[in-house]
Amino acid sequence: MNRSEQSAVRLTAQPLLITTRCSGGCAPCPFASGRLPQKYMTCADVLNHLKASTAPLVVITGGEPFEHPHVEEILTELAQVSTPFRIATGGHIALSDSIARLHRSKGFQGISLGTDVLSDLSEHCREHTLTWKRNIRILEKNKIRYSLSLTLNPDFNAFDVLQTALNCGAQPEFIYLRIPVTGASSRLPHSRSAYHSTLVDFIRRRWKNIEIIEDILAS
Ligand code: SF4
Repeated sequence: MNRSEQSAVRLTAQPLLITTRCSGGCAPCPFASGRLPQKYMTCADVLNHLKASTAPLVVITGGEPFEHPHVEEILTELAQVSTPFRIATGGHIALSDSIARLHRSKGFQGISLGTDVLSDLSEHCREHTLTWKRNIRILEKNKIRYSLSLTLNPDFNAFDVLQTALNCGAQPEFIYLRIPVTGASSRLPHSRSAYHSTLVDFIRRRWKNIEIIEDILAS
């Protein structure tokens, strides 16, 4: 698969929301603790969904998948799964104990690491940032593929967040940019296109040849 085919697969990946629980504490997020009823899929349901999926890629997401009450069981059982999947995390939960289990799964395609917890959007930004950086070092040390996800938002300094990633030696496989075209984007510091192109230029200068996947959000 060439890079643009890979990008298309990643952009159209099927999400599998396994829990609404998340302790990220990010201001605008519906999953921040207590805003939604705390629900989760059983381990058997997660496995059945993955095994039955015909999508080229499934993204296990939440809430925070690593805060699923039975996450250890799920990670162990994922070893049987050959459906290609990634796991999306806010990055504020320590990954050190999960890495070895993920390595065993044939379907495992990498971690999608969010960045909201690195910003003032999160009420626990300081402590979450420390865990996030530790996770980057663990992923790098264990040669686990991972990406970074950013949603452009006037209350989120994307440049500061990317600089934090650079400072801890992050070498993501790709960067996933979610770009709202209405609502929040109208309050971005410059026009959306100027802000966006400055950001893309920043990324390309720091991470040579990196794949940038852009997702234009309708609202
Ligand atoms: S880490 Fe992600 S899911 Fe959790 S509150 Fe923040 S934005 Fe929402």
